Amino acid sequence: MVAVRANALVGPNLEFVEDARFQVSTDGTIIDISKEEKPTEYILPSSYLLIPGFVNAHIHVGDAYLKDQIYGLSLDEAVGPTGVKHKKLSSSTTEEKITSIRNSLEMQVNNGFTSFIDFREEGLQGINLLKESLVDFPIRGLILGRPYNKDSLVEISQQSDGIGFPNVFSLDDALCEEANLLKANKAGQVNAIHVSESLEVISQSLAFYGRRDIEVAIEQLDLDFVIHATYADENDLQSLKKNNIGVVCCPLSNLYNGLDFPPLEAIINKGILLGLGTDNVFCCNPDPFRLMAFSLYNARSTKQHLSPKDILKALTVNPGLMIQRKIGQLSVGYSGDFLGFDLNCSNLSFSKDFYTALTMRATPADISFQMYKGRLVKWENQK
Ligand SMILES: [Zn+2]
Repeated sequence: MVAVRANALVGPNLEFVEDARFQVSTDGTIIDISKEEKPTEYILPSSYLLIPGFVNAHIHVGDAYLKDQIYGLSLDEAVGPTGVKHKKLSSSTTEEKITSIRNSLEMQVNNGFTSFIDFREEGLQGINLLKESLVDFPIRGLILGRPYNKDSLVEISQQSDGIGFPNVFSLDDALCEEANLLKANKAGQVNAIHVSESLEVISQSLAFYGRRDIEVAIEQLDLDFVIHATYADENDLQSLKKNNIGVVCCPLSNLYNGLDFPPLEAIINKGILLGLGTDNVFCCNPDPFRLMAFSLYNARSTKQHLSPKDILKALTVNPGLMIQRKIGQLSVGYSGDFLGFDLNCSNLSFSKDFYTALTMRATPADISFQMYKGRLVKWENQK
């Protein structure tokens, strides 16, 4: 058992609560939130603000070893079946792949992520490589495997948190039926897919299926969320909402690849759960602060109205709700994953709004306190 006391953003709406005491059980779950005076191991100064650890709602941890080799290429040249990424993956040794994965995990921990949802390449082998690396890092990896070679979907599902399909062209009837059956029978099984990342994908879907890819994906799969939806139209968003499917956008990656800024405001206004992800490590460092600030700056220039709090939720509360895991908020029953910031530090002092300060000014260097499942990762002021 361990307890933390601080001013904090509590619950699913990240409400400010002064001087809250969080009791975390030995298995890392928040079991009590109160204002009671009780012995507390970690009492943060009154200038501190405690928030939930960040959740990276979409990442490919495996491609860190391709950093800065893709800029200027088309999406197909970079990540297509014969592109740079898959060529590298198929010609790499296991050691090289592990080094690459570990680099991504280290960056995420240092940047304040306490959970991430990975789209894992290379089937069972890929899943196991990540699982073996994860045990050494204070971060939760939710792994979505993909069909690969002769690996069965059942095995992939058993060894992971669910299935992450590359796109609608990777689907067939038998595969979808199996994925839906797995979801119906296995508690916590997550199904997700990349959709409408580019206009080309939508044209190809229209040519192949006679329908837009979001429509095809929803029709074929029982989904928890889709990734990208950069070019989703009104009907697409309506169908996503109707089917209670979340959307994870990756604005940094979209703009890196020469695509448009995603319709974040429209997604939020529809009442769809919005998550944000850093996507491929080769193009975007997994840094929640850069992602939040970039999203808010670009929203202004594309005439979208977003609030900093909405963006903070997209990297904390919403991904947890989307995949029904008890992560991303400081509530009873949720994981004791915390970040603490000194609002008097040079980057954040004088700010009149801490939601804006956290999303548009803070950097990884401003994380003064970090805890994963009730276990201390970092506390700068610790005497
Ligand atoms: Zn992706």
